[in-house]
Amino acid sequence: MTEVVEQASRRRTIAVISHPDAGKSTLSEALLLHANRITTAGAVHGKGGRAATVTDWMEMEKARGISITSAAVQFEHEGAIINLVDTPGHSDFSEDTYRVLSAVDSAVMLVDAAKGLEAQTMKLFDVCRRRGIPIITVINKWDRPGRDALDLMDELRDRTGLVPQPITWPVGLSGVFHGLLNVASGHMERYHRTPGGATIASIDTLTPAEAEAEFGDDWTTAHDEAAIVGADAAEASAAAVTPVLFGAAVLNIGVRHLLDLIVSAAPAAVVRVDEKGTERSLDEPFSAYVFKVQSGMDPAHRDRVAFARICSGRFERGMIVTHAQSGRPFATRYAQQVFGQDRATLEEAWPGDIVGLVNAASLRPGHTLYEERPVTFPPIEPFAPEHFRIARSTESSRYKQFRRGIEQLDEEGVVQVLRSERRGDREPILGAVGPMQFEVVADRMEREFRVPIAWDALPYSIARVTDRASVEVLARKRECEIVERSDGSLLALFSNEWRLLILQRENPELMLQAPTGAG
Ligand code: GDP
Repeated sequence: MTEVVEQASRRRTIAVISHPDAGKSTLSEALLLHANRITTAGAVHGKGGRAATVTDWMEMEKARGISITSAAVQFEHEGAIINLVDTPGHSDFSEDTYRVLSAVDSAVMLVDAAKGLEAQTMKLFDVCRRRGIPIITVINKWDRPGRDALDLMDELRDRTGLVPQPITWPVGLSGVFHGLLNVASGHMERYHRTPGGATIASIDTLTPAEAEAEFGDDWTTAHDEAAIVGADAAEASAAAVTPVLFGAAVLNIGVRHLLDLIVSAAPAAVVRVDEKGTERSLDEPFSAYVFKVQSGMDPAHRDRVAFARICSGRFERGMIVTHAQSGRPFATRYAQQVFGQDRATLEEAWPGDIVGLVNAASLRPGHTLYEERPVTFPPIEPFAPEHFRIARSTESSRYKQFRRGIEQLDEEGVVQVLRSERRGDREPILGAVGPMQFEVVADRMEREFRVPIAWDALPYSIARVTDRASVEVLARKRECEIVERSDGSLLALFSNEWRLLILQRENPELMLQAPTGAG
């Protein structure tokens, strides 16, 4: 085995997907507490009285207590190197999450035991399903009254089509959490809580006889339920199964099992295919795929960091690689592994790892970097915007800064800039998946470019991808407006479904396609 293949086989590149408030930050912190943290890249954000962590660099993020930007953290467990990539929880940033999920090889779906599968969890699950990303399910907050375990497994099956395979099962109803049945060993693990969950909970192991003597019906029920649910999983194909764990992230219960499971069951760095569908094997020369671009992380230096996932080969700081989209050389002298305010220079990295490339003005989400043999990975398709506004600078003397700022936010994928022939460049249309993206735009325009923004509402809510031939006809219609995205694709904007339907019925030859990748 070559060193690259060996290093790649140790990597587990994962993201946690969940609805806001399910406990993702708490779980991320708990994972770091258990594992040997190698570097911090701001994957966790402090809440609920815990110390703030590095992703809190963005003022708006702090004010709202949500994670808007994504970064990664790397840590080691049992010889494996886990790259935990952060995803924003709020649905308004689902396009960002979609891009992040293109960089991971598996996902942890975190579910609140009282709430089950919530809307945002399902949206993100669908993205994982479309990308074929395997999922580990964690039922969190078992220390609080919630739903019945079997009921949650039914919902999981019905709504995701996945067959749950219990790895642990709770002893005691939610809210009366005595401990966990470890399905593989058949033993019970009883947890001793530590105050506030600030350190790792200590564990006793009880034999089945001891567990039954102490917990009676609660133990036998756990045992029987896990067996019933597990029987179905034994018959299902591996791809249809989701391993399931129960726990309470806030008390550090079940976290160790999750780490062990990530090491034993989550895929190692997966071989990536290029835009023609050909594999780039892990031991080919270096290649990487940009999934996120972020500026303004360090207020002292107005720089732009591109986050890339390594797909093949060894990365060494200082190497000169090729930027596939421009054909130009790209120097990696400023590669960093640590993002947020806390940065460290990265010297080498392997498939599955995430690198932050500083001063990466030419890189955009979806771009490829490679060494020696050329490769281009598939681009990331933009989401269908659903909210549209016109942006104006309230200070006409700062028009140049306005243009530059809007262009940069478009390149980063913060918002989609839509050019319309009907309107000038002074008042571009901005398209967003969620309205909070506009707040990010206004906030960053003001802070980074010193340009206060005013908004004009637009009546549109639907976008359809169209082509040049259809535009000839559509441009004459009053019921829609044609705009062009910065990648050259054309969209027709409609104010409601009816107008679209009528137009389609009268002009069946027109291309009006629902954009793919829409959440
Ligand atoms: P996020 O929005 O998904 O990142 O959720 P947080 O990690 O911020 O958690 C949301 C709330 O749930 C916080 O008040 C946490 O303390 C609480 N929480 C997280 N995990 C647990 C758990 O296992 N049990 C209980 N009772 N509360 C939890």
